[in-house]
Amino acid sequence: MTIRTVGVVGAGQMGNGIAHVMALAGYEVRLNDISSEALYASLDLIGRNLERQMKRATITDADRVAALARIATTTELADLGSSDLVIEAATENEDVKHRIFAGLAPHLGPETILTTNTSSISITRLASRTDRPEKFMGFHFMNPVPVMKLVELIRGIATDQATFDACAGVVERLGKTAATATDYPAFIVNRLLIPMVNEAVYALFEGVGDVRSIDMAMRLGANHPMGPLELADFIGLDTCLAIMNVLYDGLADSKYRPCPLLVKYVEAGWLGRKAGRGFYDYRGDEPVPSR
Ligand code: NAD
Repeated sequence: MTIRTVGVVGAGQMGNGIAHVMALAGYEVRLNDISSEALYASLDLIGRNLERQMKRATITDADRVAALARIATTTELADLGSSDLVIEAATENEDVKHRIFAGLAPHLGPETILTTNTSSISITRLASRTDRPEKFMGFHFMNPVPVMKLVELIRGIATDQATFDACAGVVERLGKTAATATDYPAFIVNRLLIPMVNEAVYALFEGVGDVRSIDMAMRLGANHPMGPLELADFIGLDTCLAIMNVLYDGLADSKYRPCPLLVKYVEAGWLGRKAGRGFYDYRGDEPVPSR
């Protein structure tokens, strides 16, 4: 099936990146959010990010203008009715997502493919509550979307091959690469990455190393571009904890128990960069370990 128009629900961090890359690749984009301020901020950010790409000569001015012209914003889900593909990228809350799919259903054509960018909610469970489980799957972008090359494509138990192939075709047209994952908690990237972050917090908790030595060890010793504690601050410690809880609950294996120190930092509101403090304190000129 040919995808021409893409509906994006949620114009936050991820939704704005998804709208950006879809429009640049030539898709007509309908970007929806419940908040008109979020839509306004998102368009503004897309405009600035496209301008930055133009200055770096990765796109031309004509590309930038054409991409912006392909994005329409709306607070009405009904305006996404003519989409061939919908990517839901709203707040990570299962009820919110169920309500969005129910709100979309009366407006969609029978062929429209429904997808979600969820990082942790079961694709099969979300699909089962829609009118089209066979045309439903996970379309999981990495943050920041315009920069990161990978998309995880996750089949629910009922997803049909035509739906999967159509989504794989979109990933290819975006110039990105797909990793196919089965629908188990946290899929591939977070299943491997977040337990590593959690283990780094255990290493800190047990005094194996301090913040700087743990990060330096993994940067220089394993060639990681960022140390695991820096990475945790970048992702958000609340998000890391939520993913560990999804793994712990979903796989019922004690090896996924969240480190008590990670829980403590989240309780303290030390959530990482976005809070000004996590494993590092970002309030001065240079980040320094918080303790
Ligand atoms: P965000 O908080 O930045 O944005 C969420 C947006 O959804 C907000 O603008 C909010 O107004 C909007 N929204 C809430 N309810 C809505 C509704 N009923 N209808 C329409 N819009 C609604 O969140 P985000 O970080 O962009 O995450 C979005 C999704 O992407 C989540 O499912 C998350 O798990 C997933 N994800 C996030 C990351 C990441 O690094 N942030 C990476 C991959 C996937």
